[in-house]
Amino acid sequence: MEETIHNVVCTVCGCCCDDLEVKIKDGRIVEVKNACAVSLSKFQNYNNEERIVKPMIKKNGEFKECSFEEAIKEASIILAESEYPLIYGLSLTTTEAISKAVELAEALGGVIDNTTSVCHGPSLIGVHDIGVVTCTLGEVKNRADLIIYWGSNPVFSHPRHLTRYTVFSKGKFRKERKERKLIVVDVRRTATAKMADIFIQVAPNQDYELLSALRMAIKGEEIYLDEVAGVPVNKIEELADLMVSCEFGILFFGLGLTMSLGKSRNIDAALSLVRDLNEKTKFLIMPMRGHYNVTGANEAIAWQTGYPFAVDFSQGYPRYNPGETTIIDILNRGECDAALIIGSDPAAHFPVSAIKHLTKIPVIIIDPHKNATTLISKVVIPTAITGIEAEGTVYRMDGVPLECKKLVEPPSGLKSDEEILTEILMSVKKLKGEEKLYE
Ligand code: SF4
Repeated sequence: MEETIHNVVCTVCGCCCDDLEVKIKDGRIVEVKNACAVSLSKFQNYNNEERIVKPMIKKNGEFKECSFEEAIKEASIILAESEYPLIYGLSLTTTEAISKAVELAEALGGVIDNTTSVCHGPSLIGVHDIGVVTCTLGEVKNRADLIIYWGSNPVFSHPRHLTRYTVFSKGKFRKERKERKLIVVDVRRTATAKMADIFIQVAPNQDYELLSALRMAIKGEEIYLDEVAGVPVNKIEELADLMVSCEFGILFFGLGLTMSLGKSRNIDAALSLVRDLNEKTKFLIMPMRGHYNVTGANEAIAWQTGYPFAVDFSQGYPRYNPGETTIIDILNRGECDAALIIGSDPAAHFPVSAIKHLTKIPVIIIDPHKNATTLISKVVIPTAITGIEAEGTVYRMDGVPLECKKLVEPPSGLKSDEEILTEILMSVKKLKGEEKLYE
């Protein structure tokens, strides 16, 4: 039997392109249209040799396959017996699963953090300080005549961002490339910079200085220097003129701005720049979120706790203090005594000091594929792949929720992240004798 499923949401990057067409034949994906190369690679290779199809528990240093019931029971005992467990990951799963993870963190009196902690955390801290003037990607597509990418290279990181939402998109009021100006600010001439009308090469770690100079130029204040952050002042003034004279401008910023020296202060300066610009024209700002549902992780955790990441329930109520309640800080201080990792691979990406503590505590991982963290885990629970074998809600980088579909059946016995987390939550409540309290 053959069928084509339309309007499929891609579960790779924060663009969450929802126009894929997927042809299914005899329960297998045989063709994908409208996908970029990164997306195509996921749809073609999701069932590769790294796929895990059986749960495993490590005993005497060796993994032994087990039933789902045994894996859930072992995971629940580890979590229920721990004093300060950590739940982390959550940017590669559904919003429904994230909600269950928050309930679990509360029931355990632990900490829940998501990958924002190590990517756009400073962006959110900047938003807490200044506020944000933003919009949807649809508005950008229809109206933007000036597009700036700052510290972001979407040609590689978000391959369809330019064609679906910005310079090459066909909007309602801006239909052609020549109706939009593209400016790239980066420390090097990236693939995206090569397509730009204007490329501004900022000196490494001097974004804050350049943003501050732009704010001065926009206010008509004199800059008594020849250059700022490696950029000649006449170029800064030219850029300020372009920003002020556009009809609808948007500044997309990536980790090049968020994670360079200054971090949340860079974002304060960028948000303030956009706020200043709105006294003269219409200007918006948006972070280039990486994983397909990292925005959903922030949304769902914030609905339930008031905070977007790094939430600590150990006092019986939600506390948020980045630098104290963020995963790397907790691991570096050796404070947590168990960890549940959902759809993430901290052992491959975290500093050695943090990984060292992970190797000393029991780790439970819920993931469809093997990775460095599965190797150091005590319990491995395989799962159905969101957007291919499991449905659910994800949030695009502009905060628009989209429903991703189940396209094919997962390998026998595999459940969604939401189902697995629900089972662990029920089992933990039973072990803690709190079942009635939480019902
Ligand atoms: S740009 Fe991102 S969301 Fe869109 S198809 Fe490519 S990987 Fe998927």
